[in-house]
Amino acid sequence: MKKKQNKHIKALVAGGAGFVGSHLCRELLDIGYKQVICIDDLSTGSLDNIKDLHEMNRFRFIKRDITELVDFNEAVDEIYNLACPASPIQYQKNPIQTFKTSIYGCINLLELARQNDARILLASTSEVYGNPDVSPQSENYWGCVNSYGIRSCYDEGKRGAETLFHDYHEVFNVNTRIIRIFNTYGPSMSIEDGRVISNFVVQALKGDKLTINGDGKQTRSFQYIDDLIKGILCVMEDDVQHGPINLGNPNEISIMKLSEIVLKLTGSSSIISYQCLPKDDPVRRRPDIALAKKILKGWEPRVSLEEGIAKTIEYFRTKL
Ligand code: UDP
Repeated sequence: MKKKQNKHIKALVAGGAGFVGSHLCRELLDIGYKQVICIDDLSTGSLDNIKDLHEMNRFRFIKRDITELVDFNEAVDEIYNLACPASPIQYQKNPIQTFKTSIYGCINLLELARQNDARILLASTSEVYGNPDVSPQSENYWGCVNSYGIRSCYDEGKRGAETLFHDYHEVFNVNTRIIRIFNTYGPSMSIEDGRVISNFVVQALKGDKLTINGDGKQTRSFQYIDDLIKGILCVMEDDVQHGPINLGNPNEISIMKLSEIVLKLTGSSSIISYQCLPKDDPVRRRPDIALAKKILKGWEPRVSLEEGIAKTIEYFRTKL
């Protein structure tokens, strides 16, 4: 984005104290945004993630749950909806609240976008593809999702949120954008996050057993946070509106192999402990990013898994 334009933009980042949200707030301020308002209920986000931003007068933090945002009427130009726990362990703790966040929260933010004629971006997820029976997953694959299970509050919540984004655009001409984020990791993840890379790194650094769910043959494709943030900026900046866009790294790897990389890079002698595979845990996941590469000129993931994990290890070393 051009700096000239950025100095006029006032953005609202819902979920701005979370892992992805805090990186996004920092980047928007770095590229010269006029103001960044961060809303977060701190259910999984933390003030620690944004403590360096408080000193800037262009940054404002509001502790608020987006499901209770009806009376919020501050004028903004851009809205980023990242407010929702994304780790299975976290989003399953209070599934009804997770679902409400995706639906009521989205409606509140879409209404705000409608009133202000603001652009609004939804952080959707690869979970909308469920346990996919095609690989890689492209945006026109409709998914294989259980509507009645432990992951449904998140998967179906995000699917509902996508529907709301579709309909607010069709009915009220709201300028909407949807990204489907595939497994993302990096500094600022919480020690208690529960997702696999942060778990493995923390376990390896502490000398604890690495907990592999199932036989470890299930796959994921991991994207480093910096690549995601660049993708988010490109999607918001693009003057053409598209449907959902996958943002992820297509480098697919088994969870077993991932544990070996973490052990090698930490130099840890931790051993592996095998646990039960949680219900509805997808067998494989890999993004088709052809659409993103085509329309977000110049965007593609650039940080390798080894490089990204090394940076994540550095971060967790300072936290432990
Ligand atoms: N997983 C694991 N050990 C852990 C945490 C997760 O083996 O300590 C597995 C999990 O069962 C899944 C994969 O790693 O197969 C990715 O899990 P994560 O919670 O990071 O994200 P998901 O892609 O399932 O939403």
